[in-house]
Amino acid sequence: MTAKPTFWHGILRESIPWFPTVSQDKCIGCELCFVTCGRGVYEVRDHKAHPDRPYDCMVGCTTCANICPTQAITFPDRQLVQKIEREHKILAIVRQEAAAKHTKLEAEKARAQAEDAVAAATTRMAFHIAGEFGEKRFLVKLEALIKDRPFDVVNLKLEVPTLKGALEKTPSHMAFEVTSTDQQDVTAFLADVRQLLRDNQLVLVNEARL
Ligand code: SF4
Ligand code: SF4
Repeated sequence: MTAKPTFWHGILRESIPWFPTVSQDKCIGCELCFVTCGRGVYEVRDHKAHPDRPYDCMVGCTTCANICPTQAITFPDRQLVQKIEREHKILAIVRQEAAAKHTKLEAEKARAQAEDAVAAATTRMAFHIAGEFGEKRFLVKLEALIKDRPFDVVNLKLEVPTLKGALEKTPSHMAFEVTSTDQQDVTAFLADVRQLLRDNQLVLVNEARL
């Protein structure tokens, strides 16, 4: 399969003679260039580096030459790149590319901020309360609180130690979770739930964000 042509700021990459040349005499096969190059330009055979994919080299990069311990790697004079830049008038294309990059970065920043806001939002909160529930019709009031609002009460558990005790107003325990039905922040609604607990003289044993 023929490799898809690549371009450097609008110029066919294979028309730009910028790539490393390795002196096989000087190369000691340390493989530093092989592990360093993020473009995968090099292969190592018989303890020698070979730039098998020269046109994958980033135009203008000289990293591998800079780090080669035996100075086995050379590149064309950098003025070659500057000459190509002038001849092909690439700055107009670069301006468009820069604008696109700014837009992309801004979109990524906005998405990260939105994700942070979602992560910071409290969408589910667990309550553990104690008190006397029967006569106060607490569940009916809780139900009224969520009616026609984008919230729900889930995993509700009522623990009554003894039925006779409950009739004699022995405190019972209740656990439930307040959640948003559409992933909204429930913080404002939680204030109403806490107020309901206070109005009914119920003891908030614990509350925890989930
Ligand atoms: S860094 Fe230099 S010496 Fe080491 S393998 Fe690459 S070309 Fe050879
Ligand atoms: S100059 Fe940079 S991109 Fe090119 S082969 Fe070396 S390390 Fe890779």
